[in-house]
Amino acid sequence: MKGRFAPSPTGYIHLGNVWIALLSYISTRQQKGTYVVRMEDIDLQRSKRELGEALLDDLEWLGFEWDEGPRIGGSESTYWQSERQDYYANVLECLALEKLIYPCFCNRTRLQSIASAPHIGEIIHRYDGKCRHLSKRDIDELYSMKEPSLRLAVDSCNLEFEDRWQGTQHIHLDGELDDYVLRRGDGMYAYNLAVVLDDIAMGITEIIRGDDLLDTTGQQLYLYKTLQQCYPHKHIEVPKYGHAPLLVDIDGHRLSKRQKSITIRELKAQQWSASRILGELAIVGGLIDGSRYTHREISLSDLIHLDLSVSGLRQKTIVIK
Ligand code: GLU
Repeated sequence: MKGRFAPSPTGYIHLGNVWIALLSYISTRQQKGTYVVRMEDIDLQRSKRELGEALLDDLEWLGFEWDEGPRIGGSESTYWQSERQDYYANVLECLALEKLIYPCFCNRTRLQSIASAPHIGEIIHRYDGKCRHLSKRDIDELYSMKEPSLRLAVDSCNLEFEDRWQGTQHIHLDGELDDYVLRRGDGMYAYNLAVVLDDIAMGITEIIRGDDLLDTTGQQLYLYKTLQQCYPHKHIEVPKYGHAPLLVDIDGHRLSKRQKSITIRELKAQQWSASRILGELAIVGGLIDGSRYTHREISLSDLIHLDLSVSGLRQKTIVIK
């Protein structure tokens, strides 16, 4: 099997990120699998190379050892998404030839007016299918005025998957309403596209990530199905999923990169050792009984023996004090 940790280098790595890295690492090592680290720096405005390098330094300092990824290489020529754009472009060309995607010229104002009231910060992905039915003539004319985004033409369907901690998930996708963007008008590739294409290219068979991404899984599963249609001679393996509860602060807020105090850099500056950080995480996450560890320092090599089927991982959030 192959597991992975796929952080976005938009800030210094913090406890919330390490929690996910820890779970994916333990799971992969327990299955004697290959552990991949991939830098999801596809958002070129928010990601920074230096932050990616700092993130790798911090992971190394914590004791993580990856079998494929930045600094050590592997079967892929690069593990930085910002350097993988030709690959994404080629796949989009194939999807376009099969008429599985279409250009969308709608502007932001129009999209906002048709979106069903989203929660703050939620990605708007409901669409009304307007550009799915444009004539060739309209498309040619619109192209001369504006670079379109590219949307996946979704067929209404029901999807299902078994999540390691969240149980069976049932998803319904509606054609047109759920036609989602794979490449923005400004040329930026969407997370859903890059993540699926890279997991396929890197042969990832198990995805462990935060449960804030649970809602994106339906769109990603649909993309696996579509890609299989586009490349019928290739066997595209759909990975197993485990969406783990996020760490939140005592006010219930998700740990964010803006809270400097919980970055690994800051904890290190306060003389926390790597095994103390990992030990505390394993205790708050319910992987071990804290009362048995008075010193609360546990190294990564000891942590890989822990049982990941504990019931605490089925809850929504884990409070960190
Ligand atoms: N890059 C994403 C993040 O840092 C994770 C993507 C994934 O695991 O699918 O939130």
